[in-house]
Amino acid sequence: MPSLGGLLKKRRTKDSQTLSKELEAGSAQTQTSPNAAEDHHHHHLLHHHHHHHQPATNSGTTTTTTTTTNPATHPQQHATNQPNQPSGAEKSSEDQAASMQSVTHASPTAHPSTGTANAASIQNIIHSSQPAGAMQSGANSHAQQQTQNASRDARTTKGKYSLEDFTLQRTLGTGSFGRVHLVQSKHNHRFYAVKVLKKAQVVKMKQIEHTNDERRMLNRVRHPFLITLWGTWQDSRNLYMVMDFVEGGELFSLLRKSQRFPNPVAKFYAAEVTLALEYLHQQQIIYRDLKPENLLLDRHGHLKITDFGFAKEVPDITWTLCGTPDYLAPEVVSSKGYNKSVDWWSLGILIFEMLCGFTPFWDSGSPVKIYENILRGRVKYPPYLHPDAVDLLSQLITSDLTKRLGNLHGGSDDVKNHPWFAEVTWDRLARKDIDAPYVPPIRGGQGDASQYDRYPEETEQYGMTGDDQHGHLFPDF
Ligand code: AMP
Repeated sequence: MPSLGGLLKKRRTKDSQTLSKELEAGSAQTQTSPNAAEDHHHHHLLHHHHHHHQPATNSGTTTTTTTTTNPATHPQQHATNQPNQPSGAEKSSEDQAASMQSVTHASPTAHPSTGTANAASIQNIIHSSQPAGAMQSGANSHAQQQTQNASRDARTTKGKYSLEDFTLQRTLGTGSFGRVHLVQSKHNHRFYAVKVLKKAQVVKMKQIEHTNDERRMLNRVRHPFLITLWGTWQDSRNLYMVMDFVEGGELFSLLRKSQRFPNPVAKFYAAEVTLALEYLHQQQIIYRDLKPENLLLDRHGHLKITDFGFAKEVPDITWTLCGTPDYLAPEVVSSKGYNKSVDWWSLGILIFEMLCGFTPFWDSGSPVKIYENILRGRVKYPPYLHPDAVDLLSQLITSDLTKRLGNLHGGSDDVKNHPWFAEVTWDRLARKDIDAPYVPPIRGGQGDASQYDRYPEETEQYGMTGDDQHGHLFPDF
């Protein structure tokens, strides 16, 4: 048995290329044990899944094993962490957001005094995100805008950093190629997250293109619900990506602690994700890895989508088999060409998981069983689901691409106009002008990582110089 910590930490990890081969061969001899799933480092395109707490059948019940659902067993569980039965997306407060957003947006190397004037741009008006590491500022919104402009310019012109710019702190999470550290800028003393990827690992797992894509995609996107990338660098062994430190932890942790979310809570998070997907698709980017592990909560409880390791610019169609078994659309499983439709499918899976606490096609046996379930396409909707939710889900989790909401002529508007989202005021939501249902118990701006699991700290040598076999493969870093 893997340790509980391991189970909870690794969530759905990279899985093997073997898996895709076996999928083709119809063999079920894939990794089945939690241990096997832990052993993800030499594998490829698929994130394996660790939902051992899920029912082995799609019974639609919330029956769970005792292992991971007992809040007391959660490594991070504190009484104070219990979500306060959240109030939901509909219940919004007019006055709060504006003042709560009064934080500055500063690049890691910008000196605190760089908040000087620059022409306002629409980007800044749209981008109301608060950098998690930023200090509260008493600035009025005009001054704040100027600060944001200044730092944005700094960001585009000075997107290169180095290890010397930061003090490395604890690990926040681990990915397949390395880990994410909390760091503090030596220049402005704010906190950031630095994702470190081992080049040799990336190469071994044939993820060079995906990694370069991740960097490129993240550099292009600016949206309140997407993580901000400030810059990158590399040394002879590793790639480094500097992002905002998102303080509130993963939606995954909150969901496991809550077991399942009340309808309005799921609706709030789903609505923020919908706006992010809409934006990405407008940029011709498909995300391909939607799941609660990749949804982080900022200090106010709004979502930030992280991990663009599978995001890709796709004007029309693509074929790569990647993602996380439970969340894969049937057109991906059956190796057909696919497009943005896959993100709408996975939005359906996400909403289902938030409302039920487990995914609809989960099978404890093996990913291949999950794929069989996906292709069979039968979803059992638990009776406690609201009829509007069932209606939306059945239109998202459908293999018929001519019927899947989001993939039709109306695009994302069809999703936004669905009755389940009736109470959502989309423009206010986009401005973060709607209170989040759960505010993480953290001290903002102080590098408070209490919402993240602890990981054994590796004594990996960062900042190595010398022989660099792989550097030329990552020209953008
Ligand atoms: P990733 O490899 O990008 O999926 O990151 C691995 C884990 O690191 C995530 O699941 C989070 O727990 C954590 N993490 C990633 N990015 C950030 C961030 N910007 N702020 C805080 N934690 C992060």
